[in-house]
Amino acid sequence: QAKDMGGNTVELFTSSMTHSARARLQTEAGLRNALAHSEFLLHYQPIVELKSGRVTSVEALLRWQPSQGNLVPPAQFIPVAEETGLIVPIGEWVLQEACRQARRWQDQGYDTLQIAVNLSIRQFADPSLVATVRDALQSSGCNPASLQLEITESMVMQDAQGALNTMHQLTELGVQFSIDDFGTGYSSLSYLKRLPVHKLKIDRSFIGEIETDENDRAIVDAIQTLARKLTLRTVAEGVETDAQLDILRELGCDAYQGYLFSRPVAATDIARLLSNMPA
Ligand code: C2E
Ligand code: MG
Ligand code: MG
Ligand code: MG
Repeated sequence: QAKDMGGNTVELFTSSMTHSARARLQTEAGLRNALAHSEFLLHYQPIVELKSGRVTSVEALLRWQPSQGNLVPPAQFIPVAEETGLIVPIGEWVLQEACRQARRWQDQGYDTLQIAVNLSIRQFADPSLVATVRDALQSSGCNPASLQLEITESMVMQDAQGALNTMHQLTELGVQFSIDDFGTGYSSLSYLKRLPVHKLKIDRSFIGEIETDENDRAIVDAIQTLARKLTLRTVAEGVETDAQLDILRELGCDAYQGYLFSRPVAATDIARLLSNMPA
């Protein structure tokens, strides 16, 4: 077909490739500059326990605020950070900042609040990860039990033995693991049993249409059964409506996260939210 359209097609294709390569280089340069000039920040999204209605943890979500321009969401720069390896120093900053913030909340009396931090595949495979987490905990004085690390199924399956090793070392530091976006990856149930994991975060793609889609509901139900048998807690991601929440409660889900309760917000807004919670 390209042949039928003549030479112009080839040219268009080439110029769009060049465009994306240039955009990628620009993002890479921007990320290096962002690291050097502290242009990253964390937003936090509450995770609510269904039974009590209390915020028991928050997920740290990375944002980039360039000196000029709008806040950049992670989908627009994490892939480039991952490809270039910049995700390792960026991820180190995320761990340090999340632990510093956890310590501030602990000092304010919210000492049972957990903070979830996302790890990238490159970061998880990096031999310095254990030392990085240990440093972040020690220099902040944050309670290790309040730190949750979020990994995905595919991160574990890529090098299962290596992953298990890393997870055991981190577990010895006192931190906990969650499996993020659960249900979307290639998962091995036999590995799930062997992994030191506390929570399954049910991917939001199963939640959005759970009111009408029998299959989604059946999948979430199956995940609940699995979690119960393996004594894992569950968190539903991307909960936007009361009707979705009712179904999740019926299915026995432990906690939820989503725009229904709150979007990701700045740390100061979390403090306000916590101070308004029932004791
Ligand atoms: P995730 O870890 O699955 O995080 C949840 C994402 O879902 C967040 O997007 C959050 O804003 C969004 N979300 C929460 N509730 C709702 C809802 O009710 N409806 C909808 N439509 N979306 C909702 P965000 O902040 O854009 O982050 C996207 C992804 O970027 C994250 O997915 C995570 O994989 C990655 N990411 C974020 N921060 C970091 C980080 O510090 N390090 C690494 N490696 N990855 C990160
Ligand atoms: Mg996550
Ligand atoms: Mg997720
Ligand atoms: Mg997700």
